[in-house]
Amino acid sequence: MKALIPSLLTCCGCLLLACTPSPPAQSELVLGTICRINLYDQGSPKLYNALFSRLREIDTTMSVNQADTAVDRINQNAGIRPVPVPLELIAVLDQALAYAALSQGAFDPTVGPLVQRWAIGSEHPRIPEAAEIDEALSLINWQDVVIDRDSASVFLRRSGMALDLGAIAKGYAADALVEILQAARITGAIIDLGGNIFAYGVKQQDLSWSIGVQNPLDSRGTYLGVLSVRNKSVVTSGVYERYAEINGKRYHHILSTKDGYPVSNGLLSVTIIADRSIDADALSTTVFAMGYEKSHSLVESLDHAEALFIFEDTHIQGTPGALAQFTLRDPQFTLIP
Ligand code: ADP
Ligand code: MG
Repeated sequence: MKALIPSLLTCCGCLLLACTPSPPAQSELVLGTICRINLYDQGSPKLYNALFSRLREIDTTMSVNQADTAVDRINQNAGIRPVPVPLELIAVLDQALAYAALSQGAFDPTVGPLVQRWAIGSEHPRIPEAAEIDEALSLINWQDVVIDRDSASVFLRRSGMALDLGAIAKGYAADALVEILQAARITGAIIDLGGNIFAYGVKQQDLSWSIGVQNPLDSRGTYLGVLSVRNKSVVTSGVYERYAEINGKRYHHILSTKDGYPVSNGLLSVTIIADRSIDADALSTTVFAMGYEKSHSLVESLDHAEALFIFEDTHIQGTPGALAQFTLRDPQFTLIP
């Protein structure tokens, strides 16, 4: 951790840099990660409780790591029958399918069979055999997700298919917490769901929040630069977020729906700044999976999102909006305007 920063709240993808000592954040292990919320001097036990119970409720619907969640029931019934689900799951699936269409399947919420076979982030990660990868790839197709709005049900057309909302659910959850904060008339807070950040409102005295961007080549907690934002979500997808080391080689957790292996395209990480966290979360994975060449003009065309790309050769590029909010601090990296 850099000594320059008086007080620092860490998270996976980004680091939140606070300039004055503040009341500690509250945290809980939910959504498969450490979720931290800091309401500064506007917090009350009742409000913190409401926020964390909302996270637990979303987890109970969207997790694939617990039995009998709505997503788990959809997966168990793949190829068999449609499953009635809460409306909010349909809303998340709608967004996930929109990003799948936008990226022509580079982002795909039916990536489950591949995620299960690699099991990166679990206790037993492994390199699947070529035949297993082929089988998993044959089961991935976002166009085989059937949503029936009248009955509020979801059906996966083929047996063996499986949804995995790991790339979008935390973003949805952060937005859900923002709704609670707005209703409670909170003016500033930090939501950090395992690196999926919402820098809500403004800091005291109408200041912007400073969000550190993790150096993907260094240990966690070392930032290479700072983003200055107000009321925005900042989410990073990168090779360092979750990975397994097998036979001395690192395998990270964003998987190519083309070849079945961890995406390898010269990028170390992509940070998205957006108004809604569901967009920032889904887009960070989408853009990372698509690669710079295919995604940069796409992201420039979206007026609700900005992107910062960090490359293996240590250069950094970004959309004009992202660069305007970013200050590079680490001379090991070069910013290319
Ligand atoms: P994090 O979970 O660290 O915030 P991401 O938002 O980038 O990172 O999501 C990565 C997760 O998304 C993986 O752990 C997996 O569950 C899922 N995933 C992996 N590859 C893809 C893909 N090509 N499309 C959609 N989801 C994916
Ligand atoms: Mg994501």
